[in-house]
Amino acid sequence: MKRYSAFAIAREAARHHTGWERAWRSPQPKPRYDVIIVGAGGHGLATAYYLGKNHGITNVAVIEKGWLGGGNTGRNTTIIRSNYLQDDSAAIFEKARSLYETLSQDLNYNVMFSPRGVLMLAQTEHEKRGWLRTAHANAHQGVTTEFIGPEKVKEILPIINIDGPRYPVLGALWQARGGTARHDAVAWGYARACSDMGMDIIQQCEVTGIDRDATGSVSGVQTTKGAIGCASLGIVVAGHSGVLAEMAGFRLPIESVALQALVSEPIKPCMDVVVMANTVHGYMSQSDKGEMVIGGGADGYNNYTQRGSFHHVEETVRALVETFPMISRLKMLRQWGGIVDMTGDRSPIISSTPLGNCYINCGWGTGGFKAIPGSGWAMADMMAKGTPGPLARGFGLDRFREGRFIDESVAAGVAH
Ligand SMILES: Cc1cc2nc3c(=O)[nH]c(=O)nc-3n(C[C@H](O)[C@H](O)[C@H](O)COP(=O)(O)OP(=O)(O)OC[C@H]3O[C@@H](n4cnc5c(N)ncnc54)[C@H](O)[C@@H]3O)c2cc1C
Repeated sequence: MKRYSAFAIAREAARHHTGWERAWRSPQPKPRYDVIIVGAGGHGLATAYYLGKNHGITNVAVIEKGWLGGGNTGRNTTIIRSNYLQDDSAAIFEKARSLYETLSQDLNYNVMFSPRGVLMLAQTEHEKRGWLRTAHANAHQGVTTEFIGPEKVKEILPIINIDGPRYPVLGALWQARGGTARHDAVAWGYARACSDMGMDIIQQCEVTGIDRDATGSVSGVQTTKGAIGCASLGIVVAGHSGVLAEMAGFRLPIESVALQALVSEPIKPCMDVVVMANTVHGYMSQSDKGEMVIGGGADGYNNYTQRGSFHHVEETVRALVETFPMISRLKMLRQWGGIVDMTGDRSPIISSTPLGNCYINCGWGTGGFKAIPGSGWAMADMMAKGTPGPLARGFGLDRFREGRFIDESVAAGVAH
């Protein structure tokens, strides 16, 4: 793979851009791999990348039924933060956030990480107490956050109406090194680096069955491009985790629902932070193109429909207009949905399964984009060693049997 650099841009400009090579290969599947990862979203691709980079395992295929990054990774609102409450969550989300800081250099691909700061508004006394508690927990966990008062919120975000008609702004949990990244670029960067290590990313190839040998271990997968053998299998398919688990013969404590988002027409720069207003339920950031990127809610019933609906637009925009009256005149351009995988405690699953050589990574629900590098790191570590390392240990499936929940419903149940 030729490295991207300022020199490469100058060289290609001089020869009419005839020398760029494809970012990744599109190979036919081989009969067998050491590792198969199902799902070429951010988490699947990051798992493959760290298997190669950290553990030297490169005989890997990533199998994707659509196009890479076409699931939730390419549909999310790209908020990155690590201000979670519980120790296990703070550890993996902060690992991910810190990897994002240097991901562009690591992958030699500009993922446009923008640590512009994330504000999580407190609009009730209850919410204020919750964020104060999180700020104290973060101080113990080594995650840099602070609770700031309403005047400071107004200083950081001048377009906000801190007196709000229903819910005045009482302060906010502020994470200055949180922010956003370009979602497609994260998937594309990992894919290019995986392909460069000799891994096969096989798109338009749906896994339709999971083969087992006489001992009950996985021996391979059935796909729309034929049977492919493997020594170890990773299932990383977000909203379709229940479907894959059923193929493998076990059940998951996961519900799949559509989560929606929308963007406005582009306007001149008006806010340079990410803001989340959980009480009224809405959150917003401004993209490089000038669009206001707005996160909506999850559907109130389980479904697999990857699309938006009018009532969510109405509810979300109505909520945000209270706190940001200046957006009331904006036209909304697009809305969409993605199928998110929700656990009861709103924490992910990074776990071995009853099948021994089959591992699963799912349950990131409404908030897994921010976790991609840390999750891939932890999943690769578990698959390479056959046992979860410190980042993954708390997120095993056994916690649902043991009642050892990692309750993040405040941090993750509503917001992203
Ligand atoms: C509207 C919306 C807003 C969000 N906002 C944020 C946010 O601001 N911040 C944040 O951190 N998170 C956010 N999220 C959550 C985040 O997008 C997800 O947690 C994350 O992208 C999950 O990544 P993934 O790689 O696990 O899944 P995906 O990107 O969905 O990848 C899974 C892949 O598996 C493939 N697949 C499924 N079944 C099969 C099969 N049988 N065979 C082969 N391939 C298969 C799918 O096609 C898909 O490409 C949001 C999600 C949505 C929908």
